[in-house]
Amino acid sequence: MRIYNTLSGRKEDFRPIEEGKVRMYVCGPTVYNLIHIGNARPMIFFDTVRRYFEYKNYEVNFVSNFTDVDDKIIKAANEEGVDASVISERYIEECKKDMAGMGVRPATVHPKATEEIDGMIKMVAGLIEKGFAYEKNGTVYFRVRAFKGYGKLSHKNLDDLKSGNRTLLVTGEDEKEDPMDFVLWKPKKEGEPSWPSPWGDGRPGWHIECSVMSQKYLGETVDIHGGGEDLVFPHHENEIAQSEAFSGKPFSRYWMHNAFLNIDNRKMSKSLGNFFTVRDISEKYDLQVLRFFMLSAHYRSPLNFSAELMEAAKNGLERILNAASALRDYVIKAQAADGTYESPEQFRAKFEAAMDDDFNTADAISAVFELVKYANTRVASGCGKDEAESLLSLLEELCGVLGINTEPVEASLDAEVEALIKERQAARAEKNWAKADEIRDRLTGMGIILEDTKDGVKWKKA
Ligand code: AMP
Ligand code: ZN
Repeated sequence: MRIYNTLSGRKEDFRPIEEGKVRMYVCGPTVYNLIHIGNARPMIFFDTVRRYFEYKNYEVNFVSNFTDVDDKIIKAANEEGVDASVISERYIEECKKDMAGMGVRPATVHPKATEEIDGMIKMVAGLIEKGFAYEKNGTVYFRVRAFKGYGKLSHKNLDDLKSGNRTLLVTGEDEKEDPMDFVLWKPKKEGEPSWPSPWGDGRPGWHIECSVMSQKYLGETVDIHGGGEDLVFPHHENEIAQSEAFSGKPFSRYWMHNAFLNIDNRKMSKSLGNFFTVRDISEKYDLQVLRFFMLSAHYRSPLNFSAELMEAAKNGLERILNAASALRDYVIKAQAADGTYESPEQFRAKFEAAMDDDFNTADAISAVFELVKYANTRVASGCGKDEAESLLSLLEELCGVLGINTEPVEASLDAEVEALIKERQAARAEKNWAKADEIRDRLTGMGIILEDTKDGVKWKKA
């Protein structure tokens, strides 16, 4: 398997730290609003990376944070006159709903910055102790020049950075030893959330969050660290500096960055009026269409979002879903045939070759389309039941790697409801009434009515 590594600027063979295991960290969203379709790109792409590793029998430990303390969250909280945690909790819940709609599985762990403050204080203190950081008037800065590898990810050299940063000298940060130095801890301001620290009450800088959460949940060195390309500099460059200065070990072996999503060939922005949340899209499309659209391009290519391209994605996805449904119907009616049939494994080989080449989902989807075309012709020519079954199971499996569910919506609803009912029964058996009620409320929210009968729990749609 080959992966393009931003650190080396080329594709490299993937070799995990530990055989059969992948440790991945992906920078998650800042939760002050509903997520937009740009945020959806890394979520969908890295979920697909995770699914492909699992398909290849790796055990994946996938960590993705929620940044729940930040200027934008504080601003939104002040505007509504509520605590910052009200805003962040609300949008974490909304984000999880959008993720579920897009088929993005929950991470192994979703740490929240505000729950990891102790670890951040320890890392900042350690950096000061080692001479990589210093405190001035309650602010702690990272001493960039003390870290030899600074610039290695973004391929910038320190002198270029220095000239680019000269303006900082006049923006109130003139107490820094060097304009390139960045903040690890900032002092409390009135009306802002804060935590006690050896440098006075305050809150962490953004970059230190990810260094600490990655180290805590995945260890000093991870296999893959990912995010959108805007994070290469300064966020990821600073994460490397902090983590490697602190541990003395390489922070991540592979750095993966997705390119940006633009709208009608322009940068998405509120002021241009071309800003869409995932929720906006869900009003018009099943979010599987958005997922399919995102995967139709290579992740390192910029992707343009437009009404026409979404319609094309919808039609393409329908072709796949229709083929799956035709195969299902066919399997029910078809007779077992005598003799052998040609195995469809060549399509799996094409799919894998594409995914092994730096997760080329666009070519992987082409392989799925070839399979669909072939399956349609085999059904039309009256193939046997076994062959139709093998075509269906391959189609379901490959779509599953892409996170596309080929089951009709009704069938997947049935499965979800049955699973929730089981979970509720288990909660009741444990006398966990709060959980049982919570599950019943969730089912009610989905329009499902439960009836306790002598034959067990039955359900129907309201
Ligand atoms: P943020 O909440 O801004 O920290 O962003 C969360 C994730 O979304 C990061 O990995 C960003 O790089 C990514 N991201 C933000 N905007 C876009 C966009 N327009 N296209 C692709 N990725 C984006
Ligand atoms: Zn991060």
